[in-house]
Amino acid sequence: MQGEILITQLNDFIFCPASIYFHNLYGNTDRMLFQSKKQINGTAAHEKVDNNTYSSKKCILSAIDVYCEKYGLSGKIDLYNVDTGVLTERKRTIKTIYDGYIFQVYAQYFALIELGYHVKKINLYSMTDNKKYNIKLPGDDEEMLNKFEQTIQDMRSFRLEQFEQSNPLKCKNCIYEPACDRGIK
Ligand code: SF4
Repeated sequence: MQGEILITQLNDFIFCPASIYFHNLYGNTDRMLFQSKKQINGTAAHEKVDNNTYSSKKCILSAIDVYCEKYGLSGKIDLYNVDTGVLTERKRTIKTIYDGYIFQVYAQYFALIELGYHVKKINLYSMTDNKKYNIKLPGDDEEMLNKFEQTIQDMRSFRLEQFEQSNPLKCKNCIYEPACDRGIK
């Protein structure tokens, strides 16, 4: 994968690198065809942010397009409070804190830092059960930062034609399964 990587693709890549190809192929237009109800709910959780309706307060940045030059990542800030320095990524329901979730907030963190903002704290917020999870800053979690950087490198060197998914459970739960020839049938 050359050039810019979308922040949302970090999570997709960890789920399955081939899913990014299908997402690019079908885009959002075929969402109703491919997304399960659960996934549509997850997307809806972000619609308030994407429509920039979350807050009109000046101290809150949300749905702001950002680009992180250091890692070549682009995407949107979910929620950043300029006054408190707290960066929050909201998910519909968080049952497990996947590395992909952490990478998404790391990407936002690095983009904000490049813009000159001071991020003091990172939170993941689970909307349906109102739970908040504090995530260590990248500078305080060397292992996770290394994983983040390795994932970006892996994304840049990924070749779809050489890939085969080895976890059948992933394919079973994947919306692209009917169209995909990289999975286990
Ligand atoms: S069907 Fe399997 S291999 Fe294909 S995109 Fe989905 S998880 Fe990946």
